[in-house]
Amino acid sequence: MDVKPGELRCPRCFKQDIAPSLPRGVVDAIMKMSRRVPRHCRACGNRFYVAEYKVRALSV
Ligand SMILES: [Zn+2]
Repeated sequence: MDVKPGELRCPRCFKQDIAPSLPRGVVDAIMKMSRRVPRHCRACGNRFYVAEYKVRALSV
């Protein structure tokens, strides 16, 4: 599998069908403090956290 650095992929199924997930609960608050934002995979439904700088780099 060809995984390029900087690409946002689901850690479970490695697809790029990633959607923003709304922060909710205390875990997301803690994650936000460590600069991680929630995302979810539309392919397998996996919810995971991505380093904020990665998201910002990709959305420009
Ligand atoms: Zn997935």
